[in-house]
Amino acid sequence: MGRIVQKFGGSSVADAASIKRVARRILNAKLAGHDVVVVVSAMGDTTDELMDLALQVSPQPKPRELDMLLTTGERQSAALLAMALSDLGADARSYTGSQAGVITTGTHGDARIIDITPGRIEAALELGNIVIVAGFQGVSQTTKDITTLGRGASDTTAVALAAALGADCCEIYSDVDGIFTADPRIVPGARHIPEISYEETLEMAANGAKILHLRCVEYARRENVPVHVRSSFSDKPRTWVKDLSEGNPMEQALITGVAHDRGEAKITVVGVPDRPGEAAAIFDTIARADINIDMIVQNISRVASGRTDISFTLPMNDGRKAINALKAQQDRIKFDELLYDDQIGKVSVIGVGMRSHPGVTAKFFSALAEADINIDMISTSEIRISVVVDASAVDTAVRAAHTAFGLDAEGEAGVYAGTGR
Ligand code: ASP
Ligand code: MG
Repeated sequence: MGRIVQKFGGSSVADAASIKRVARRILNAKLAGHDVVVVVSAMGDTTDELMDLALQVSPQPKPRELDMLLTTGERQSAALLAMALSDLGADARSYTGSQAGVITTGTHGDARIIDITPGRIEAALELGNIVIVAGFQGVSQTTKDITTLGRGASDTTAVALAAALGADCCEIYSDVDGIFTADPRIVPGARHIPEISYEETLEMAANGAKILHLRCVEYARRENVPVHVRSSFSDKPRTWVKDLSEGNPMEQALITGVAHDRGEAKITVVGVPDRPGEAAAIFDTIARADINIDMIVQNISRVASGRTDISFTLPMNDGRKAINALKAQQDRIKFDELLYDDQIGKVSVIGVGMRSHPGVTAKFFSALAEADINIDMISTSEIRISVVVDASAVDTAVRAAHTAFGLDAEGEAGVYAGTGR
């Protein structure tokens, strides 16, 4: 018996029947003796529909009003869920993010949680209620206006509440059955991962795996909240995201998962004068356009011309903006031309096991070579190796890496680093 926070995504509460089904599941947790706090997303595609509606009314809606509008989606599902629970005989109450004490910065559409003051939630739990909180929203500390936390951020609401309430864990329910070693739609032999560390989950989420909201994982790591990612359609335990630093490193899998991302594009600045300050000028231009870049490669300069090429990747949606910003600076930076390529994909192998085991890069690149895949760019972190390849090669690259590191479900043993010498 303890305290748990359960979060249900939009697809788990898409219609009346789903809401009633989820209500029964919540009641079971309550009947098992837990204090239960539930965070919900808006029903199905409600947030997108509200966004479309706003754009029909106004081409550039005021961010403050957009947040007022979008937050109604989560209020609907929260209230409906409380009604369904009441009909099952439970005491349930719904609250907006603001009522639940979710205090945020004032950046509409992308506010950060600063503090949680869960007094009303505590009081309601004390009275035996199941508490339902509308996800994805809060109230600005300074302006007192209603804010949203960014698309997909109900996960973050749930983890933040779990931390503030001292919950034993946060369960994130979605239509996906946990976290997998690769996208099962690409790799039929992908397996669910029973346990994964926060840092690996962060790398997976940041490199294209659509598993959890990135900030939710950052929050969970900082506050050490164990997160159980599971399906609302099944009772099976699935993936625990938690602190695994106490475990035996020799038993850690060399590679935990393979992630891919088709959402990036590559810009090459051709013929940049090879002298101090030019790279700074390029990336200063990009930063001023408020664009986040990912990988960077600078080629060796051509001796004859004293010029070099610099390539970098960025979110595809920012491609046009970046090209325009750089073009506007061509007189100042004096490059020859800009090349733009959005037919690329990024494939990453991730695992804390690579920290203590050499040869991971060689194995990854050999697998790509055997599959006849050309590597365009490379970047690494302590626990990740990423390559950019042609968009048409992404699926093959993911499968090749998955097989090479012994992650396929039917693969033989030897997946573990301790025996893989
Ligand atoms: N309803 C919001 C969205 O669709 C928040 C969420 O689903 O977590 O982005
Ligand atoms: Mg949603």
